[in-house]
Amino acid sequence: MIEIFCRDNHPDAGHDSGALCDECQQLLDYAMRRIDRCPYQEGKPTCAKCLIHCYKSEQQGRTRSVMRHSGPRMVRYHPILTLRHYLDGKARPRPPKPKKKKTNKIK
Ligand SMILES: [Zn+2]
Repeated sequence: MIEIFCRDNHPDAGHDSGALCDECQQLLDYAMRRIDRCPYQEGKPTCAKCLIHCYKSEQQGRTRSVMRHSGPRMVRYHPILTLRHYLDGKARPRPPKPKKKKTNKIK
């Protein structure tokens, strides 16, 4: 999703090889690190249902704009993925919050 957002909003970054601009790359790296540490892992619900607020507020705001921009466009680029994501969010019950472990604590 970040790729779509970056391509549409930062056309000067040079996206010949699908590269992201520095700002978007940083956000992506950050998101990946958070997903890495998410205690739900494979059972991760869609973010709207996730009880854990993975992102710090600044990144959360940026991620939201990415989602807002790319969400409707996802249907065009990845229709099946979007449908699965949508059904996932509808069908799956909210999982219980995992117990906190010290190793999951993020400063
Ligand atoms: Zn960008």
